[in-house]
Amino acid sequence: MFDHPEFDGHETVVFSRDAASGLTAIIAVHSTVLGPAFGGCRFWPYEDEGAALTDVLRLSRGMTYKAAICELPLGGGKSVIMGEPGRDKTPALLHAMGRLVEGLGGRYIIADDIGTSLDDLAVMRAETSHTAATTAAAAQPLAVTAFGVLAAMEAAASSVLGRGDLAGLRVAVQGLGNVGQPLCEYLHARGAELTVCDIDAERTAGAEKDFAATAVAPDAIYEQEVDVFAPCALGAVLNDKTIPRLGAKIVCGGANNQLLSPSHDLALAARGITYIPDYLANAGGVIDFHQESIDDSPAAVLNAVTRIGAITADYLARAAASNETVLSLTDSQVRQRLADCGAKSP
Ligand code: NAD
Repeated sequence: MFDHPEFDGHETVVFSRDAASGLTAIIAVHSTVLGPAFGGCRFWPYEDEGAALTDVLRLSRGMTYKAAICELPLGGGKSVIMGEPGRDKTPALLHAMGRLVEGLGGRYIIADDIGTSLDDLAVMRAETSHTAATTAAAAQPLAVTAFGVLAAMEAAASSVLGRGDLAGLRVAVQGLGNVGQPLCEYLHARGAELTVCDIDAERTAGAEKDFAATAVAPDAIYEQEVDVFAPCALGAVLNDKTIPRLGAKIVCGGANNQLLSPSHDLALAARGITYIPDYLANAGGVIDFHQESIDDSPAAVLNAVTRIGAITADYLARAAASNETVLSLTDSQVRQRLADCGAKSP
């Protein structure tokens, strides 16, 4: 465990199997230095425990970085449940998961993620109060992650391309799910020209019809001659094979863990491509969770999420001045913040 390539000084990793309900789950608390660890619960048919562990370690670290770069009083955590949600998800299993979260005494706050829903959290609340979505606001269907990506993209288009707005901006969106679809909607409303891909033909047809998008085959998305490439599907899409093919000047999207390895940030920079760190662009959900406890009106939540644009603009300016990449600056800022706050802890 301690030699695992994705282990990053995680505070706590809990493995649990509940024979009665069939629950097999892992909770990873990466850091509570800045506050309780917040993060979603992914219910997924992982190939094996190794794949589940890799996922939960990586994603929980990402949650720490999202909260820290947005200066929120939250840490980073994540949980995974191994199984097929359509087949394995039962009230008994959700209760067992709730008890597992309760056992951490508030150090981990569980949220919805792929394979879990707000209704599932409501079931878990019979066992624990440490869940997201406890306010009326949480039930509002706001596309906060896409809105944050939009804010980051506006800042990048202004800084890198000198654009005052997004009219005519050419954007290639990879993946038209919960993040990519509303991102297209926001971009289309602002006059951007969209190229899209998805493995689901119905989704690309929908984008062609609703947003006048041009659909391309999934593998052709990389070489589109566009201003921005927005990965909104899978992780590790920025790698040795794809970076040489990229036709975009900026990468800014919602997917988690877009770089196959940290060195790919430099590979992008070497090609003159500006990479907006994924954990900054897609931090809308964490800001949303924090904001809902302060002012849960949709306007207040979306306004809070626009901070991602201001933060992005700030780091882009610093990166230009110091000739460093945005990621190297945001990474060091997060590490510094954790070290400063960690040093103050008793
Ligand atoms: P989703 O499952 O709703 O959508 C993903 C879409 O990508 C689907 O339409 C799928 O068909 C498509 N896709 C899958 N493989 C593809 C491929 N090879 N090429 C093109 N399209 C492909 O997922 P989502 O919630 O939209 O999340 C997308 C990404 O954003 C994930 O990496 C997720 O971890 C990250 N993310 C999501 C949120 C959120 O609020 N949903 C928040 C932060 C980060």
